[in-house]
Amino acid sequence: MNLVDIPNANTQTKFTLSIIVPVFNEQEMLELFQQELNKALASMPGEQVEIIYINDGSNDSSWAIMRQLYSPHATIRCLNLSRNFGKEAAMSAGFDYAAGEAVILLDADLQDPPQCMPAMLKAFRQGFDIVNMQRTARHGESRFKTWSAHCYYRLLNKLSDVPLKQDVGDFRLIGRRVVEHIKQLPERNRYMKGIMSWPGFNQTTLFFERPERVAGETKWSFLQLVRLGLAGITAFSVKPLRLATWAGGLLSTGAFIFGIWVLLKTLVFGETVPGYPSIMLVQLLLGGVQLMAIGILGEYVGRIFVESKQRPIYLVMDDEQSSCQNNKARHHG
Ligand code: UDP
Ligand code: MG
Repeated sequence: MNLVDIPNANTQTKFTLSIIVPVFNEQEMLELFQQELNKALASMPGEQVEIIYINDGSNDSSWAIMRQLYSPHATIRCLNLSRNFGKEAAMSAGFDYAAGEAVILLDADLQDPPQCMPAMLKAFRQGFDIVNMQRTARHGESRFKTWSAHCYYRLLNKLSDVPLKQDVGDFRLIGRRVVEHIKQLPERNRYMKGIMSWPGFNQTTLFFERPERVAGETKWSFLQLVRLGLAGITAFSVKPLRLATWAGGLLSTGAFIFGIWVLLKTLVFGETVPGYPSIMLVQLLLGGVQLMAIGILGEYVGRIFVESKQRPIYLVMDDEQSSCQNNKARHHG
């Protein structure tokens, strides 16, 4: 649980669906996104829907714009985080504040098509707790990004004890009982793709084509993606540590055998002086392996350090809510 007491005004209202939208510098996108969302919601009459926008410390006018958004079909709630905590933290905030029976995570750039929502909700009603959305194609993303993402997920899956679905991003539906479990996970390292896969339960997968970002630019730099990738591996696997142990073991065995050979050479053939290349080779190799092992260890120690501080995952600065009615009044008045 977050240390901040979460005021949840939604507890009386029963929503069937909460839509969580993390937003970081999406001023070009928000109005268009809301229009598209409204179109999708119009095709789902009778659902009680809340939309939760989480402004993740944008430094453009996203916050001002999102507070003016209007939907005839849903209640809109806007959370303003006190700074940029990252998408993973913003999604965690969304889970904490969502009151719906089902929760859908949507990116604000329309790369997760809202038209998929009726199918997702249908699968949920058929009894699935989690509806994963697997992309069959990624449009508008560089070959390198598609390829590296593919390789990364394969690697992560090999390392992780929890099976992670290939080509499934954050876009998915999660049912209330799983949301409650996810909220209780205490870790600060919120690698959400892993966290959402960890509980298991009844899962199904639907397919969609991932369109291009409609406006604006991706918010992830290459380094941030590498950092997220490392967070995923260290949060869901201790196999790199085991790898360091194995590498150490193998090298020691090699060194032992090589040592015997050197000893024999000296004792039997009387050769002592030559050997500079072999000494350098062993020296450099061992030095490298040791540094790598310390680095791996450091990654985990660093994570323990962050976890041990027990700081909240995010801080909410403002929380604004409008029901369909007063939203409408504000819009027309
Ligand atoms: N996002 C966020 N905080 C961040 C970075 C991104 O809330 O620090 C949001 C962003 O506004 C968008 C979603 O996360 O709604 C996905 O970001 P983006 O489209 O840049 O990622 P990509 O689709 O390129 O992986
Ligand atoms: Mg995107």
